[in-house]
Amino acid sequence: RVSVVLFTADLRMHDHPPLRAALAGGGRAVPLFVRDSGIATAGFGAPNREAFLRDCLADLDAGLRSRGGRLVLRSGDVVEETCRVAAQVLAGEVHVSAGASGYAQRREERLRAALERDGRRLVVHEAVTTVLPPGAVSPSGGGSHFAVFTPYFRAWSRQAPRDPLPAPRAVRLPERSVASDRMPVRGGVRGLSPGLAVGGEKDGRRRMTAWLRDGLAGYEEGHDDLAGDATSRFSPHLHFGTLSPVELVARARGVGGPGAAAFERQLCWRDFHHQVLAARPETSSADYRPRGDRWRDAREQAADDVAAWRSGRTGFPVVDAAMRQLAHEGWMHNRGRLLTASFLTKTLYVDWRVGARHFLDLLVDGDVANNQLNWQWVAGTGTDTRPGRVLNPVRQGRRYDPDGAYVRRWVPELADLPGPAVHEPWTLPAEERARYDYPEPIVDLAAGRDRFHRARDRG
Ligand code: FAD
Repeated sequence: RVSVVLFTADLRMHDHPPLRAALAGGGRAVPLFVRDSGIATAGFGAPNREAFLRDCLADLDAGLRSRGGRLVLRSGDVVEETCRVAAQVLAGEVHVSAGASGYAQRREERLRAALERDGRRLVVHEAVTTVLPPGAVSPSGGGSHFAVFTPYFRAWSRQAPRDPLPAPRAVRLPERSVASDRMPVRGGVRGLSPGLAVGGEKDGRRRMTAWLRDGLAGYEEGHDDLAGDATSRFSPHLHFGTLSPVELVARARGVGGPGAAAFERQLCWRDFHHQVLAARPETSSADYRPRGDRWRDAREQAADDVAAWRSGRTGFPVVDAAMRQLAHEGWMHNRGRLLTASFLTKTLYVDWRVGARHFLDLLVDGDVANNQLNWQWVAGTGTDTRPGRVLNPVRQGRRYDPDGAYVRRWVPELADLPGPAVHEPWTLPAEERARYDYPEPIVDLAAGRDRFHRARDRG
């Protein structure tokens, strides 16, 4: 029995149900990844993710080779290439993980139809890229998905995830071989963030072991502390599937305690956004809860504000620190994402899509479900039950960076300012203020907040 295993957002060997199923009972398998032209055309081929992806592919190939297999890499239309490879090796089945986005759902449908025309079967495996598949728990009042997190979390917590699977000991290739593109290397990608993380399952698992041992226990207390950097940083590995969310939950539960519970709750947020996107795929660009008001025009009215926000020169130190962390690492702390997104959409009153696009251009974990739906959540067009709340960046800074260390790390112009004073450089006496090459605030916070509320009430 010969199968093709089409890897997508699941670039690992551990806990991989499609690979496992293809190899079961002495089966032979072609592990395949297609560099899908559709994804690049849709604007999702950002340099940081491309570099991380290259690490992942090289690492997956190495892992498969050490077990007697290899990764076949192709480029082009994912459906055509998969069918071609399946025909070349005389595969009866193609195994793939289910995806939540509209793009993944359409890919699955096209692939199923094309394979069936050739007399082959598509086997779609669920709960590979999320802990529970979208739709695994349904709201008691009916409906396609949960629109509010807390009841989803309650229902989600009652459902047992499947057991994680070990990596296969051996990978048997079919007798007929197929050509593969050369594995690309990260060195060829231009425009990378200098502090970009390394991709691949090997690095992901090393991080997982270290963080479960040293980081998890302090997670509940420390996860909102910007300077402490105490979160797992698993998000790029979860995005590319080099870590399994099912395995993470199982291992965190094995450790237990409040840190594990808080961490599991964050993984549930990830599942929550995936189930919203799976049920409402159009919300990757359309408002989940449309409003009548109109954002300021980002190209005309708000062009300078958007440019200042993107480059980390808004004059609000904690906003600028977070935006510069994003540019430098291709990653931003969750608290930073919340307060920079609130600042753009509410204080500056700019369309969430403008911010989401900028994040997607840089984030190594940039993800349709998590990025677009978190942006909507913050902007008040999504699933937040308090859509009118506006985060005040000064208060956020004082609360989540109480000593100002995060700001001093990322905004070196202000590095001499001691303690929390760094959050309000405009309060310094004029002659002292003049010593710092740092912009004045681009907006009056109270006026910005009122503009948002007035516009929303009118809309
Ligand atoms: P940890 O705190 O260690 O959490 C563990 C895991 O839980 C994360 O890796 C992530 O997969 C998941 N998680 C945590 N918080 C959330 C959340 N609010 N929503 C969904 N999943 C969550 N996350 C992405 O993976 N990709 C994105 O493109 C993305 N864009 C975002 C945009 C905005 C405006 C906001 C407010 C949040 C966004 N997030 C996104 C969610 C969150 O900020 C990141 O997942 C988190 O900061 C990643 O860091 P970590 O791995 O150290 O998280």
